[in-house]
Amino acid sequence: MGLPNKGKIKIATLGSHSALQILHGAKQEGFSTIVICEKGRERPYESYKVADKIILVDDFRDTQKIQRQLLEENAVLIPHGTFLEVFELKEFEKLKVPYFGNKGILKWEADRMMQREWLKRAGLTLPMIYNKPEEIDGPVIIKFYGARGGKGFFLARSPQEFHKKIKEREARAYIIQEYIIGAPIYIHYFYSPITDELEVMSFDKRYESNVDSIGRIAAKDQLDMGLETSYNITGNVPLVVRESLLPQVFRMGEAAVKASRTLDGDGKGLFGPFSLETVLTPDLKFYVFEISARIVAGTNLYMNGSPYTDARYGEPMSTGRRIAREIKKAIKDGKLGKILS
Ligand code: ATP
Repeated sequence: MGLPNKGKIKIATLGSHSALQILHGAKQEGFSTIVICEKGRERPYESYKVADKIILVDDFRDTQKIQRQLLEENAVLIPHGTFLEVFELKEFEKLKVPYFGNKGILKWEADRMMQREWLKRAGLTLPMIYNKPEEIDGPVIIKFYGARGGKGFFLARSPQEFHKKIKEREARAYIIQEYIIGAPIYIHYFYSPITDELEVMSFDKRYESNVDSIGRIAAKDQLDMGLETSYNITGNVPLVVRESLLPQVFRMGEAAVKASRTLDGDGKGLFGPFSLETVLTPDLKFYVFEISARIVAGTNLYMNGSPYTDARYGEPMSTGRRIAREIKKAIKDGKLGKILS
């Protein structure tokens, strides 16, 4: 495990995904901040002034250069969605820069079947998985491995439809999952291993193209145009849930944390920000179709806090700021070893 030196700790992340929020929150908590940007993509970080230092690299995959610079800066690295996209898991696990979160959990998130095992152990309700296309007997969604942001996913209702559509796509590993009809709800959690407390920070729903705009076109025209739904994420929309659902929301988050301690050897499990991605059916049952073991981009809506964090903190508390506050507390209590890996 990498631990920073005793000196002043800085907060660093990659310039993408939720970096604005992470760095903004870190500054609110009094940290110096660093953003690593690919050349030509630094404009937002200059403009919003959330980074005290911008390190430019030709490519995020230049991990050795990034590592060297961050070790020199005595930085703690805050991961977000872009990390798993650009780094090979093995290479990432070897990074020596102190990392906020548990690297041991990443492989459980990265593999769709391992992730399923985790969620099952937590006792959560999951969409069914079809082992063979021939078993398809209702609406299904076909998901490709490593397809961040739902790119290329498609729907089918029968083995024939599946075979026709898969032929039109390049060969890649996929899973066939029951398609759940309901309201998509993304729950943003934060679990502190220092206080052993789970917080529900906020919720969002996604704005996906073209599935969120297809309803603007009459069904007949959709058929005439031969439209296919796609789930490419373009943004996020804020959401609060029926208050009576909150007890269940807390229970689900706590169950995911508890089950995570049975996954990796050291029992540290999941901590920091994470998200359960759910569909809520008309009979108010949450189906969890994915877990993200890190900050999700939907939290970017709440740079200034959400209604829930407002109730708890009474001051603007984004997930990015909550991370920085956890690091600050860990420094004060001498517990950095509990939150870094
Ligand atoms: P990310 O890793 O960014 O969360 P992904 O590529 O793993 O994305 P998912 O989040 O699994 O993709 O799915 C993309 C979208 O497809 C979801 O936002 C949701 O709208 C829809 N979706 C996924 N699974 C189901 C399901 N079982 N039933 C209904 N809709 C689903």
